[in-house]
Amino acid sequence: MNIDFSAEEKAFEAEVRQFLEEQLPQEISRKVLAGTPTSKDDHVRWQKILAEKGWAAVNWPVEYGGTGWTPTQKYIWANECAKAGAPDVVPFGMKMVAPVIYTYGNEEQKQRFLPDILNSNVWWCQGYSEPNAGSDLASLKTSAVRDGDHYVINGTKTWTTLGHYADWIFCLVRTGDANTKNQEAISFVLVDMDDPGITVSPIITLDGHREVNEIHFDNVRVPVENRIGEEGKGWTYAKVLLTHERTGIARVAHSKVRLEKLKKLATEASTGMGSLAEDSRFQSKLLDAEIELQALEFTELRTLAAVSTGKAPGPESSILKIKGTEVAQAIDELYMDVAGYYSLPFVKEQFLPDFEGEHVGPDTAANSAPKYFNNRKASIYGGSNEIQKNIICKAVLGL
Ligand SMILES: Cc1cc2nc3c(=O)[nH]c(=O)nc-3n(C[C@H](O)[C@H](O)[C@H](O)COP(=O)(O)OP(=O)(O)OC[C@H]3O[C@@H](n4cnc5c(N)ncnc54)[C@H](O)[C@@H]3O)c2cc1C
Repeated sequence: MNIDFSAEEKAFEAEVRQFLEEQLPQEISRKVLAGTPTSKDDHVRWQKILAEKGWAAVNWPVEYGGTGWTPTQKYIWANECAKAGAPDVVPFGMKMVAPVIYTYGNEEQKQRFLPDILNSNVWWCQGYSEPNAGSDLASLKTSAVRDGDHYVINGTKTWTTLGHYADWIFCLVRTGDANTKNQEAISFVLVDMDDPGITVSPIITLDGHREVNEIHFDNVRVPVENRIGEEGKGWTYAKVLLTHERTGIARVAHSKVRLEKLKKLATEASTGMGSLAEDSRFQSKLLDAEIELQALEFTELRTLAAVSTGKAPGPESSILKIKGTEVAQAIDELYMDVAGYYSLPFVKEQFLPDFEGEHVGPDTAANSAPKYFNNRKASIYGGSNEIQKNIICKAVLGL
């Protein structure tokens, strides 16, 4: 595979660097590079700068506001953004529901929803999982019963990431009766979070943060016109969305930046008999992670190439999901090794945006344990890694 950039690609890379240098607000990139939390305002501000430039929707078709970039340009963009400390795109609108809307929605739905996603005016969350339907998602119970030109929705969605910030939620609901086969009973509907009957309750995670929620629907009336595509075909659309979601979870560029930073930190961490970078066991773990990451990068490039021809990413997105999360978690462990016992104290205040106190140990140690524990989620969300292995067995290997 030839990965040398052409003259045009080098010019594009220079243009991207200059844009990021001039337009990415420093107070935002500082937070991203330090691993401190970014706010909704930070994401909206950056997304609007990108929309103004026409660079917000990297993977969308050009007719809806996408960039029309080649796979190599997308690769350059992702790498430069990670290096510069640009915040990740919050995926629920831009990378998840938008592809479903522009692929399966009608013209009115495209015009109504896509511009607000592009400009980050409306935030979305994902209503798939339920208390008793995660891996076995098709057994979901949230019901949508037809009443004239409305559906009446009842049920509970759970693990809803950033649901407390969302204006809209895209949901999988059961529209068929008890005799309908699970996969043919599911529809894909868009629901305004301000609709009467919706309550959002927090799930507080181990680190004391609110990232996920439960969302309860109590006789919520949703116009039938908010259904995407045909009734009972929601499972097909949901699966397409999941391939987009899983491709995005790999975060190769982000892991590359973290790994480079880690190498430098290891030279500064002492084992008492030299630097950690000289320790053969550490070197071996580091090299393992680096080799895995490089292999993953090529797989990601192949997937980007497929997406650029207008196709949805196929079941190979499951490979990206597994390997991307495994590498990221291996890097988390290496950060813990570098921090040593300084990773142990948990000072919650130091993660607040206005924290001005002293860190216990080096600044970089403070985030190592919270990041390690928080990122255990990555092998669960978007469909657990065990489920991805099942998909690869069936859809890729034909077993
Ligand atoms: C931090 C976080 C954020 C999330 N955000 C969202 C969100 O925004 N929206 C949303 O809809 N969902 C979200 N999820 C839900 C996520 O998609 C589910 O947690 C996931 O699909 C697993 O489902 P479950 O939790 O019900 O676990 P279960 O399905 O009960 O699985 C439990 C364990 O059994 C294993 N297992 C289950 N079935 C099989 C099988 N057939 N073969 C082999 N192993 C199996 C699983 O791998 C897992 O290890 C989020 C989850 C987390 C942790």
